[in-house]
Amino acid sequence: MSFFNKTVIPDQWKEKYLDLLDEQEQSGKSYKEKEDLLCKTIIRLTIATTGLDAHLDPHLLSIRDQLKNGINSQALKDELERFTTSVAQIKHTPPQNRVADPSLLFDFLLRHYTSPKQQLSLNQLKKKADTVKFETTSQLFTAIYEAIDSDADLSSTGGIASHINIETVSKQLLALLEGIEIPSLFDKQAQVAKQLLAAPGQTTIDFEPILDKSFKLLLKIKQHNQTEQQDIDKFLSHITEQLAALDISVMGASSAVQESAENRSKLDQSVSEQMEKLQLSSTNATKLEPLKEIITSRLANIAKEIQQHGQKEAVQRKKNQQQLDDLVNKIKDMESESCELKSKLKIANNQALRDPLTGLPNRNAYNERMETELARWKRYHSPLSIIVWDIDHFKNINDNYGHKAGDKVLLLIAKQLSDHSRATDFISRFGGEEFTMLLPNTDKKSALVLANQLRQTIEKTGFNASGTSVAITISCGVTEFIANDTEETAFERADQALYQAKEQGRNQCCVL
Ligand code: GH3
Ligand code: MG
Ligand code: MG
Repeated sequence: MSFFNKTVIPDQWKEKYLDLLDEQEQSGKSYKEKEDLLCKTIIRLTIATTGLDAHLDPHLLSIRDQLKNGINSQALKDELERFTTSVAQIKHTPPQNRVADPSLLFDFLLRHYTSPKQQLSLNQLKKKADTVKFETTSQLFTAIYEAIDSDADLSSTGGIASHINIETVSKQLLALLEGIEIPSLFDKQAQVAKQLLAAPGQTTIDFEPILDKSFKLLLKIKQHNQTEQQDIDKFLSHITEQLAALDISVMGASSAVQESAENRSKLDQSVSEQMEKLQLSSTNATKLEPLKEIITSRLANIAKEIQQHGQKEAVQRKKNQQQLDDLVNKIKDMESESCELKSKLKIANNQALRDPLTGLPNRNAYNERMETELARWKRYHSPLSIIVWDIDHFKNINDNYGHKAGDKVLLLIAKQLSDHSRATDFISRFGGEEFTMLLPNTDKKSALVLANQLRQTIEKTGFNASGTSVAITISCGVTEFIANDTEETAFERADQALYQAKEQGRNQCCVL
């Protein structure tokens, strides 16, 4: 029995003990769960409240860090104390940099409130805002409101300084946001700001963060536009350089062809018009992308015109070159034709003015020379003489020794006359077996001397006809041009003198 009892009692205690252990375990678990939940809640709360106040943020961060690894009662207690002290101080700490740079707002206000008094007050206020900085946005707006109303008779309202007219300020800010060009980057923010500003019936406390938001947005837009403007300036100077280079190349290309001057001036006009348009677009531009599009399309236009001009010029140049080639070929042809003509003419001239048998100038040549010498004689009055030669009994030579022998005699006499006369004397075969000589600067006396010398030379020469020595003599008539003579009268006189020489027995020279 005792054994039974012994065994029962311990079992009961054991059960109880185990139940207790279970209970304790359950309670421990529940406590742990609660502790975890508490930690998580506190962590979330610290996250949610971070950023509300700069002084509280370090405490919130510290509390959060400590709770991540469970609760350390002492550390948490210390931190909680510090946190409480900071919270107590919040009320006394002035808000920092609550009022953003209001220069953009002043730009707007100065454009809209233009009376001298308003301008003066606003400018003074702008200076003050730059140097002093207003602690709250509402203070700044109260001052602005006073400045704007400085021209209006509102002195009776008295309590203006104590509050701001939210509706008026909202309208101004809304007008400002509507009036400026908002980059697409800020579209959403501007939309939100406009909705907030347009919402009716707001209190001063509600309105201050809206004012701050609006100011910050305006500042961001201003900064963005400034960078945009710088980009535009850079882009424009680049474009200007490109256009200048383009213009130089157009000038260089077109100077090669003078005929294209008209086209060139048209192109110049067009390019400068395009450039003017570019300049106008650039001056009015506030955004880079649309400006780039305009400039790119204008550049494309210019490039197209230059290309067309180049094509026109190329066609024109080809045409000109063709014309020039044709011209050169024509000139070449003409030159060779003219050379050919010249030589033909020379031959013809020679034939016309030379005797083919003796090679001496013929009667035509004599007539030409006579004309020249006669003109010279008339001008300078220097003496001019004529000798007319005729072979004695030439018919006999032909008859006795043949026509060929007669020709040889003609050649022989022509040579002797040429060889023994002066270079300035002009000898010609006048016809048949007659020769004439024109002797410039020679009077009839000297002419007679020369004639007799020639006559004697021929007499001495003789002619061998088929082994037979044949005597050849020649007679002449000499005369000198006298006043009122024509070539015919002078020639006739010489001919008469020749006749005389024949009559007097031949182989002699007579003068008249
Ligand atoms: P004169 O002394 O009076 O002058 O007598 P001539 O025989 O010389 O004169 P004429 O007028 O009677 O005869 C001239 C001749 O000259 C006649 C002609 O046949 C000859 N004759 C003219 N031209 C030529 C020629 O080119 N060659 C030859 N072989 N004879 C010519
Ligand atoms: Mg004769
Ligand atoms: Mg004769």
